[in-house]
Amino acid sequence: MNIEEIWNKSLLVLRDKVGDSAYDLWFKPIRLLQLRDAVATLEIPNRFFKEWIEDYHPSLIKNALEETTGAPVTLKYKIEEKQPSVQVKQIEKLENKRIRLANKGVYLNPKYTFENFIKGNSNQFAHAAALAVAESPGKTYNPLFIYGGVGLGKTHLMHAIGNSVLNSRHDVSVLYISSEQFMNEVVHAIRHEKMSEVREKYRHLDLLLFDDVQFIAKTKATQEELFHTFNDLYEKSKQIVISADRPPKEISEITDRLRSRFGMGLIADIQPPEVETKRAIIYKKSEIMGINHLPDDVVNFLAEKIKTNIRELEGSLIRLAAQSSLTGEKISLEVARKLLKDIIHDDTRPVTIEAVQKVVCEFYNISLSDIKARRRTREIALPRQVAMYISKQLTNISLQDIGNGFGGKDHSTVLYACRQVEEKRGKDETFNRMIENLTRKIKT
Ligand code: ADP
Ligand code: MG
Repeated sequence: MNIEEIWNKSLLVLRDKVGDSAYDLWFKPIRLLQLRDAVATLEIPNRFFKEWIEDYHPSLIKNALEETTGAPVTLKYKIEEKQPSVQVKQIEKLENKRIRLANKGVYLNPKYTFENFIKGNSNQFAHAAALAVAESPGKTYNPLFIYGGVGLGKTHLMHAIGNSVLNSRHDVSVLYISSEQFMNEVVHAIRHEKMSEVREKYRHLDLLLFDDVQFIAKTKATQEELFHTFNDLYEKSKQIVISADRPPKEISEITDRLRSRFGMGLIADIQPPEVETKRAIIYKKSEIMGINHLPDDVVNFLAEKIKTNIRELEGSLIRLAAQSSLTGEKISLEVARKLLKDIIHDDTRPVTIEAVQKVVCEFYNISLSDIKARRRTREIALPRQVAMYISKQLTNISLQDIGNGFGGKDHSTVLYACRQVEEKRGKDETFNRMIENLTRKIKT
């Protein structure tokens, strides 16, 4: 097969995998320039392609080429574009530094810095805590435990701490690791009787960034190892930063003694961003990407329609930028709507009482019939009040009709429930957050 045939065949594989529209947009414009010594050089129209492909389909092209040629390949990108922006040059410089660091075993994304992190009400607490830790690791909050939903910036903040510490100090030993990597490492070490080497590596760290601890397996060996690593670093006042999608007390996978260790320092949460913060993030990211003059209506559209996940926000921007630089078309609201229609659903489904009940019952682990029954035991009364309250908040349904939806209660019962919950929210922050989380879950 010559190179053209190889590429054409690989394209067919790719088309099969991603479907026509993504194929036309992202893969068709790519050319295979060279395939030599197991390195495939791909020419892509601009750097957005690289970002998008790496974010969404990291090994697709590699796999397609390997399938076609029957041999392993690594990819190299050549970008057609002539004039990278200042920011891109900066990032490339950092990127080179990262590669150098990676050789020493430190993997940190140079784009994830404090400067590139936008503060808002939703994340300012976690941001301030991360900054304090970066300024004096091991001295302020140890461990720092950051939790929050997917795509809200936990990993970004952890890398920012790492980048900042590495920039300001020499000879510090930093390690960023996800719980999956950690598990693999432990399992591998046990199998090959190399546990002492792993221990050695961890015990020399000054800063351990441990991401997504909720994925840690229940296996005894991994938990033990993490526990001992933790104690060891902690006793030496070495900084530990941990992230998860929920607070320690809600992670059932970890042992009690680990859980209590995680809570010994500071626990900081990140909430979904407000529209204002999302707008600021969009401006910042488009500046970094070198997108000029993103119209305000497009910014507002993205900020309002993309509910919480900031990674999705970024993906959308990359998509818009790639398309507009390909076609020369300006990014307009029209274009944005058209291009993002599979990510952004314009039709907002109305919330129903049943939907509220379902989520609340699941949360409290009670049955639907319980919530509608007459019983007034404490276990049922509170969930019922919560469900009534959220129904009132999220729908236009009258108090009486809400009462009917709960097995025929009258409107004053619903009103009372709403007042009770409102009052409890004001006094009890944990309860307040729980209501916010339930509400969010029902709305999506
Ligand atoms: P998580 O680890 O919480 O799932 P990430 O840290 O991976 O989320 O963030 C997802 C993407 O959103 C990243 O590209 C990150 O840079 C970006 N992001 C999240 N929060 C912010 C923020 N406050 N300012 C700028 N970028 C952000
Ligand atoms: Mg993450």
